[in-house]
Amino acid sequence: MSADAIVIVGGGHAAAALCAALAEAGQGGRVHLVSAEHELPYQRPPLSKSFLKKADETIAPHKAAAWYAEQGIQVHLSDPVVSIDRLARRVLLRSGAQLAYQHLVLATGTRARTLDALHPDLSNVHVLRDAAHARSLRTRLNEMIARGQRLTVLGGGFIGLELAASARKLGLDVTVLEVAPRLLGRSVSASLGEHVFAHHRSMGTEVQIGVRIDGFELQEGRLLSMQVNGNRVAVDELVLGIGAVPETRLAADCGLAVDNGIVVDACMRASDPAVLAIGDCAAFPTAGGVRLRLESVQNANDQARTAAATLLGREEPYRALPWFWSEQGPMRLQMAGLLPPSAQTVQRAGANDHSFTLFHLHEGRLLCAESVNAPLDHMMSRKLIEAGVALNAASLADPSIPLKSLLA
Ligand SMILES: Cc1cc2nc3c(=O)[nH]c(=O)nc-3n(C[C@H](O)[C@H](O)[C@H](O)COP(=O)(O)OP(=O)(O)OC[C@H]3O[C@@H](n4cnc5c(N)ncnc54)[C@H](O)[C@@H]3O)c2cc1C
Repeated sequence: MSADAIVIVGGGHAAAALCAALAEAGQGGRVHLVSAEHELPYQRPPLSKSFLKKADETIAPHKAAAWYAEQGIQVHLSDPVVSIDRLARRVLLRSGAQLAYQHLVLATGTRARTLDALHPDLSNVHVLRDAAHARSLRTRLNEMIARGQRLTVLGGGFIGLELAASARKLGLDVTVLEVAPRLLGRSVSASLGEHVFAHHRSMGTEVQIGVRIDGFELQEGRLLSMQVNGNRVAVDELVLGIGAVPETRLAADCGLAVDNGIVVDACMRASDPAVLAIGDCAAFPTAGGVRLRLESVQNANDQARTAAATLLGREEPYRALPWFWSEQGPMRLQMAGLLPPSAQTVQRAGANDHSFTLFHLHEGRLLCAESVNAPLDHMMSRKLIEAGVALNAASLADPSIPLKSLLA
């Protein structure tokens, strides 16, 4: 073990992107990648989309095993870090192995939120976070088709809705139950939430919002039914899509500051400067002074680049524009920027009836754009937000005016 080792804890997007950035800088030989999962870092977004729909689709690794070997990166799979000794600068793995570090990077992501009332071992209750979940869910969905069963999705967030759309495409009957008064309530504008609601209903999914769940009936390790709005609703298979919680247990146990994520500065340093945190598990400061935690591939990738710079002795504060995408059947949503608490919203029509962009402005500046089946408008929106130029709402709304011309 070299004295300047960088130990990366986690085998997801952020860890993979950090390996790539460090390898590009010729630093692969310093790196240990330690993952709880038994496969190399892979693309997570397809797990709720194409992977579920295509029986022959395989998990797509970011890089092959040979690449890690060529870069000198030592990979430890199926061997989670169980504790961190910050004084000795050493981590302990479940196997009993110990790794000393000069720098430690926590890229531990999130775990699925669950409910106390639902026993985690119930045979017909599922979550979807990783490849193992997706494989078992795909098998189960195909068995359900043969049996003519209905899938119930509890929670109308991105993963639940993507999964619902995939299951519908497979021909399953699907019910989505959301306790909040609208879908995607924490992530998108009310107007977009309404559009998404109508889209899922048009696909034949039964979507209920604002529901009251009073209890669960369990029998012999299965969920038999739920009380929804006072009625007993039988359950064949249920997926919990009620969000994720940041995986901060290691950080908290070794005394690092944690506040809805591992608290980091703009260069991704945790409260101990020998430790960094990136991706879904990191709570970072924005230029506006607010602390944020984002769950997106963009955030994982860009924070990995910031962390690489920090590890290589360069100060490059994280200021990337947040953006995100989601595919729900034939609908592709793309969001750029952050939705302000109060905004002037204008809609720009897209190329057809199923495509448009909602622009959210504050004091004449574009802060957020939500595009539906309008990838070019999404790309231009990112440029307009980054440019920070004063914009005329009427021009944004007029599809005959190219967005590019507004940059000038
Ligand atoms: C089904 C699904 C679909 C998604 N679709 C989209 C999408 O369309 N667009 C988008 O932008 N984002 C999407 N996301 C979110 C995106 O995948 C995440 O934001 C991204 O993976 C975050 O990367 P990360 O490396 O921070 O965390 P993760 O990719 O979650 O990786 C965390 C890793 O840390 C490991 N780990 C945790 N604890 C330990 C430990 N103690 N020791 C060792 N390893 C540990 C975990 O096993 C895991 O491998 C989706 C996520 C899911 C689950």
